[in-house]
Amino acid sequence: MTDEIVLEVEHLQTGYGDLKVVRDVSLTVRAGGITVLLGRNGAGKTTTLRAITGLNRTTGGDVRYLGEPLGDVPPHRRVGRGMSYVQEGKRVFHELTIEQNLLLGGLSTGKRKRALAGSVQEIYELFPILGDKRSLPAASMSGGQQQMLAIGQALMAKPKLLILDEPSQGLAPVIVKEVMERVHALKATGIGILLVEQAVQDSVAIADDVSVIEMGRTVLAGAADSVTLDDLQRAYFGGT
Ligand code: ATP
Repeated sequence: MTDEIVLEVEHLQTGYGDLKVVRDVSLTVRAGGITVLLGRNGAGKTTTLRAITGLNRTTGGDVRYLGEPLGDVPPHRRVGRGMSYVQEGKRVFHELTIEQNLLLGGLSTGKRKRALAGSVQEIYELFPILGDKRSLPAASMSGGQQQMLAIGQALMAKPKLLILDEPSQGLAPVIVKEVMERVHALKATGIGILLVEQAVQDSVAIADDVSVIEMGRTVLAGAADSVTLDDLQRAYFGGT
């Protein structure tokens, strides 16, 4: 991890119409670092991600990306500036092969075939299982492998910030660990990763920074190695 800040969210407020969901959320993502955003169901994690990616309007606070405030920059321009968002429950194209799915992920970049082929090779190095199965339909892969493919697709755009919403959703515990290990390995590429998770221990284990939100407010934030399980329990369930 470096000191270079990719994303800085300060006192974010957002919601749906008149409904205020996120009231005061702050977090930081550094280049080559993983920030994990935790919180109970309905705490406002996905809504926070939607504001960062421009899908929801920010009604208060700041989102700064690569040193610049994003204001009302629309979602597609944020993508163009290197933000990739893998939404919760993201599905891949089952009938297409793994390689075709990856190539589709690179379409928006406007790159030529040869450059895309190079990017695909890089994804195979990060996720060898995708390389092994490149010619098979995506439907033939397990849930964990399909999640890796969805992440691989997002990486085809060569993002500077990768936002992952619950990649472990619906996966068996042993597969969750495998997906987390792969996400951890992405740090070496130098990108910043913002990870929303329900798998608390597995995600904190790979995180550099942790932020916990409760009812739309940040209630705990800090370096992952300074946050104890007790701190997390208190942040989740209240009390002192
Ligand atoms: P989960 O872990 O269940 O995904 P979360 O922390 O990501 O939870 P959000 O999905 O951000 O929580 O939801 C926060 C609140 O916003 C919830 O009360 C939810 O009902 C509400 N909400 C979410 N999406 C919408 C929407 N499209 N319109 C209105 N309210 C919404």
